[in-house]
Amino acid sequence: MELKLYDTLTREKRVFAPIDPNNVRMYVCGPTVYDFAHIGNARPVIVFDVLFRLLRQLYGTEHVTYVRNVTDVDDKINARAAERGISIRELTEQTYNNFKDDVAALGCLPPTVEPRATEHIEEMKTLIERLVAGNHAYVAEDHVLFSVPSMADYGKLARRSLDEMMAGARVDVAPYKRDPMDFVLWKPSKPGEPSWPSPAGIKAPGRPGWHIECSAMSWKHLGETFDIHGGGIDLVFPHHENEIAQTCCAFHSKVMANYWMHNGFLQVEGEKMSKSLGNFVIIRDVLADWPGDVVRLAMLGSHYRQPINWTVKGLEEAEKALSSFYDAASAEADPRPAQAVLDALLDDLNTPKAIAEMHGLKNAAGRKALAGTLGFFGFRPDELKAWQATHAPQPALPEAEIESRIAARNAARKARNFAESDRIRDELAALGVVLKDSKDGTTWEVAR
Ligand code: AMP
Ligand code: ZN
Repeated sequence: MELKLYDTLTREKRVFAPIDPNNVRMYVCGPTVYDFAHIGNARPVIVFDVLFRLLRQLYGTEHVTYVRNVTDVDDKINARAAERGISIRELTEQTYNNFKDDVAALGCLPPTVEPRATEHIEEMKTLIERLVAGNHAYVAEDHVLFSVPSMADYGKLARRSLDEMMAGARVDVAPYKRDPMDFVLWKPSKPGEPSWPSPAGIKAPGRPGWHIECSAMSWKHLGETFDIHGGGIDLVFPHHENEIAQTCCAFHSKVMANYWMHNGFLQVEGEKMSKSLGNFVIIRDVLADWPGDVVRLAMLGSHYRQPINWTVKGLEEAEKALSSFYDAASAEADPRPAQAVLDALLDDLNTPKAIAEMHGLKNAAGRKALAGTLGFFGFRPDELKAWQATHAPQPALPEAEIESRIAARNAARKARNFAESDRIRDELAALGVVLKDSKDGTTWEVAR
């Protein structure tokens, strides 16, 4: 079984070969914990959870290390804590716990390690010292800056021209920068902001820039070079480009990660869902209306590299599909996912194809494999059943009224007044109450 993954760096689908099959290593950029995560943030979490499950299936549960960091030092965090009048620690703890609950409700396994930036300041400082010593970084006005011209192949991930990169990075051209593209590795903290003793001989206390956090945490937990690095497409530039620059220059290595994977955006009305655009829906609110598994299936209905248009219709369809899978799956699960489903996933995580294959398993021959496949994806049948029980559509009439109309209809039928019995049936149908006649009598249900 051959896994193929699309690599953003080489712009091609390549056969996946781990550095060490006994320890397949994946790093995915995690949340900045200042507020509830929105449903767009859930996309990379769900996509890379499916990849994590697939890798565990292929290499063994104990042979995959999945690191997803928590960015708990950031200007947005400082600002929000001040706004809410709580400590930074309180804000980041609260937000992280909410995130953990949200993604667990979405059926995602916890990663192997969830390192926090604030617990890796020493590693960041070590990297910064190495970069300064190697002339890849310099000190200016209590900042440490990465010198972009010091790296010959800077820009190889983004493959953009210098002009495009400058526009994309939206770097403020601070007077202390030698080159406008140079980016911050370390900066001074104002009074009241989180701070640590600075590296590189700087006297003033300071704090790390965002990009160095991921270079430090991936190094600590996965080594100088690892297998897969993932995140949303917006992270290609400048975040991942800068991670590559920092890591490769600090270790004099050519490769930070062998496969770079990026999910497309979740969109609303053709625009990226984001906090800055204000068009976001938080995961918490979606989970108040829908079971996590339905959200998960709706998310996997599009290939991870394509954009998804987030709609209620998509959720309704996912609920119907999931319900039909549970109706068809036998209780006796084959623990292995169906081969056809695996084959779809082995082709660069083709989840829409995998879901189509699951529909094909609803016949007698596929029922056992369907159960195992649902388990492989992390779907939980009890969750949907419990949701359906509380969200069963309510009839528009009191039940006693429905019963009395059924009795009237039965009387009309007995008197062979079919015009009247049909009229009663149609009247109820118009109110969403569907009658079903059988030899045991008439039952009713609310139309979905
Ligand atoms: P952030 O907290 O903004 O750093 O984002 C955390 C993760 O969510 C990153 O991997 C982003 O690329 C990803 N992300 C943010 N917005 C979206 C979106 N609308 N669709 C898909 N992924 C997103
Ligand atoms: Zn990162």
